[in-house]
Amino acid sequence: GSVIGILGGGQLGKMLAQAAAKLGFRAHVFAPDDDAPAAHVAAHYVKAAYEDAEALTAFARGVDVLTYEFESIPADSLAVVEDIVPLRPNRRALAATQDRLHERELLAAVYAPVPDWARVDGEAQIEAAFDALGGPAGPQGLFLKTRRQGYDGKGQFRIYSRDDLNEARRWLGGRPAILEQGIAFDFEFSVIAVRGFDGPCVFYDPPRNQHAEGRLAVSRVPAGLSDAEIKTARGIVESLLSELGYYGVLAVEFFADRSEGRVLVNEMAPRVHNTGHWTIEACAISQFENHIRAIAGWPLGATARHSDAEMVNIIGPDIHEWAALVGYNPDRSLHIYGKAHAAPGRKMGHYVDLLPRSQET
Ligand code: ATP
Ligand code: MG
Ligand code: MG
Repeated sequence: GSVIGILGGGQLGKMLAQAAAKLGFRAHVFAPDDDAPAAHVAAHYVKAAYEDAEALTAFARGVDVLTYEFESIPADSLAVVEDIVPLRPNRRALAATQDRLHERELLAAVYAPVPDWARVDGEAQIEAAFDALGGPAGPQGLFLKTRRQGYDGKGQFRIYSRDDLNEARRWLGGRPAILEQGIAFDFEFSVIAVRGFDGPCVFYDPPRNQHAEGRLAVSRVPAGLSDAEIKTARGIVESLLSELGYYGVLAVEFFADRSEGRVLVNEMAPRVHNTGHWTIEACAISQFENHIRAIAGWPLGATARHSDAEMVNIIGPDIHEWAALVGYNPDRSLHIYGKAHAAPGRKMGHYVDLLPRSQET
């Protein structure tokens, strides 16, 4: 059988490896961590730094196709492996999504609407960006976001008024960033799309997502979106997929801003996504399996949803309550990632509740 190489060893890598094994592939995982959930299920695990070109080259020689579950892999490291084995999604997709400035440039190239934003190349430019945006448009203030490395709301600083600029400068230091207008959205949702070698790209039903402290807490389908909202959002994602020449799953996060009659792109991830975990239980073919099918050049599987679903993340020490979380509901599907340390804020597992399918989208 063929070998799928996965860069990154977190829970996304674990579920990708399980989907690969389901289809008869062997999954090889490369990650720097001691405590990598994907290592528990991979056929082969290499623990090394992404910057270790020698280890990465040896790893790439042992696989038939390479993918990633984490976007902060140095793009230079991927240049090394790209000549050895196909990288899917390609390096351009990774480079564009691992830097918020490049991501905004890509979104502008496909005319995707985003919150008003300004470039900030270090603390000295924060005030000019603040003025360029005309200050905060509402009580949500402005969001200062580092260009690289942010996730779960880390790497963000809120600016509510000019009085916050000193603290913002100290917080940012020399890091490049973007400053953007806070949006008084009605709710957040995401589009999870898959593009294979042939045929049109396919979509899962978009989930409605709730965040707490900058981190995803709950995803629910149906989202309660109108057909027009879904059509607009999918159109944007389709343009991104063809612009990038993309193979695999792409997730794009949106704000539904109904007072303005618009949907805005927040950010995108060139990989399977936390807001699509429910596809394991609620669809015949999950986002993980369709990602493996897409990068292996197989026909894609059906994305239709047979049930309504709610996914809840289990964060930090709450994981110790797992027995209580499943105890009262025999239909509740529990996932425990198997991370040794339940640090506060860390994603430790999730569960999915299914309900009979409603007619809504
Ligand atoms: P992720 O873990 O999803 O990669 P991240 O650290 O990259 O998170 P964002 O998705 O940019 O961060 O922001 C996290 C959350 O903060 C958003 O889902 C949203 O709830 C809120 N947020 C971010 N930008 C804005 C904005 N411009 N207006 C209003 N809320 C925002
Ligand atoms: Mg992000
Ligand atoms: Mg996000």
